Amino acid sequence: MARIDPEFRRLLENYNLDDLEAHSGPIYGVWKNFILAYLNPGWYRFSQENGGEPMISAEWDLGRSILDCMPGEMKLFYKSKLNDCLNSHRAWDYEFECSSDIFYRRYHQIVHPLGNREGLLIINSLVIERYHTLEDRPVRAADRSLYTDKNGMINQCAYCRRVKSIQEVECWDWVPEWVKQCPKNTTHTFCSTCFGFYFPKSMTISSSNGQAQGNRPG
Ligand SMILES: [Zn+2]
Repeated sequence: MARIDPEFRRLLENYNLDDLEAHSGPIYGVWKNFILAYLNPGWYRFSQENGGEPMISAEWDLGRSILDCMPGEMKLFYKSKLNDCLNSHRAWDYEFECSSDIFYRRYHQIVHPLGNREGLLIINSLVIERYHTLEDRPVRAADRSLYTDKNGMINQCAYCRRVKSIQEVECWDWVPEWVKQCPKNTTHTFCSTCFGFYFPKSMTISSSNGQAQGNRPG
């Protein structure tokens, strides 16, 4: 399976491809339309370690859009930030959580603009990995009657992987069994804490370019 579009190599001329290949975390390159054009070996390791993870799937390949796998709200913000990065020609970085049922994991992501607004290189590095603690995340049993909403769906946060309880307003619980393998009727969204953290009000959403237009919240 090809992992790099030959045309995309030109955009990586300022990078050492061997270093990108040897990086322990997932690195991927996309064209300006967010279509995958490069995947490093770390991408596949990450996918394996995060089975069922909603954002990354081993089924993805060159030619797929990285936005395809994201829930609506996430797609909107992420697309906006990537467009800002492309158009401003400034790198953008942030940290995100990608925990498993056993480990708390935090990654740093840096997005580099490539060429003349032609593509992006997205580099992810593991910064924290430790066991979850009970103080941090009290474990709840996978009881569908407590988490299935009136539409028959279980709502899981795309970042922290907690699920929304139907018993209380805005209560999100840690159900490790569903982090390991989410039920078929799971839908991915953001809990209020993650939404506030990752998308603070101070974060602007650009609509100054064609690709972000028409997608503003509301
Ligand atoms: Zn969350």
